Amino acid sequence: EAKQNGSSQYRFYDAAQDRTSLEEIRLEQELEYAIERNQLRLLYQPKFDIRSGLPIGYEALIRWDHPEHGEISPLRFIPLAEKSGMIVPIEQWVLRTACLQAKRWQAGGRDPLPIAVNVSQVHLMKPDIYESILDTLEETGLDPRLLELEITESAMMHNEEHVIEILDQLKGAGISVSMDDFGTGYSSLSYLHSLPISCLKIDRSFIRKITTDKDSKAIAEMIISMARQLDLKIIAEGVETSEQVALLQELQCYNVQGFYYSRPLPPEQLEREQVS
Ligand code: C2E
Ligand code: MG
Ligand code: MG
Ligand code: MG
Repeated sequence: EAKQNGSSQYRFYDAAQDRTSLEEIRLEQELEYAIERNQLRLLYQPKFDIRSGLPIGYEALIRWDHPEHGEISPLRFIPLAEKSGMIVPIEQWVLRTACLQAKRWQAGGRDPLPIAVNVSQVHLMKPDIYESILDTLEETGLDPRLLELEITESAMMHNEEHVIEILDQLKGAGISVSMDDFGTGYSSLSYLHSLPISCLKIDRSFIRKITTDKDSKAIAEMIISMARQLDLKIIAEGVETSEQVALLQELQCYNVQGFYYSRPLPPEQLEREQVS
């Protein structure tokens, strides 16, 4: 809290701060071996159509099982991985693992549903990202039309020309791209219009307050009607209550993802619970 006060008097002996950064450096180093030590795994959160109640796809979400600290949230280690560059091999592992899982589900006789992976800004900027994704699709045999990339609104706002070029290539290969956490960045309408994306994911922060806060409802409503105008699909993130479901249905947003329907699950549990 010393920092927030803007006071400098604690600066030289903020031991807690020091410990944090040491721990972060440590984690950053340990992350280098996380793949080979089998410490990473994926959970899958189904997305649903509220009209049919059926799943329409899945999002792969990474977890790090640390030998000492237990499960570490991606909110904590993804930024470290972005800093060190480890994010690229990590996301290649995510992509490959998710594609193999989707293929396995298909082989088990399930309806082929799209699988989504998150792609960070650092990864998006790698010059060979397109080739690398295509290689993985080819190697795993997954139909590109079943792959969806989720890229946050803020990640898409760096180097806009490059982003458009990459997304054009991906679209050409049949891969679809969703704008994640939509509403939290500041993309302009004209940029949004020029991006070859297929779906907007309304950020959880609006959905959380959608039934209690007039402004959040108004923003969600606006995003939904804008998506319709721009011919984009729309999905609401972080749906937790039946009241939110009812309101979203009223606003004609029929695709949802959230704890109300299902938490992110390990693949075996997802199969057991038949939400696949
Ligand atoms: P995201 O891509 O927006 O993913 C949705 C997050 O919201 C997930 O958190 C999910 O567990 C959580 N969530 C879903 N429904 C609900 C709900 O009803 N209530 C609440 N409170 N939360 C809900 P998670 O798994 O902790 O992941 C957090 C973020 O970490 C993700 O946000 C994504 O930005 C990032 N992430 C996860 N895996 C990857 C990855 O492979 N690459 C990158 N770059 N980022 C990843
Ligand atoms: Mg996402
Ligand atoms: Mg999201
Ligand atoms: Mg989010």
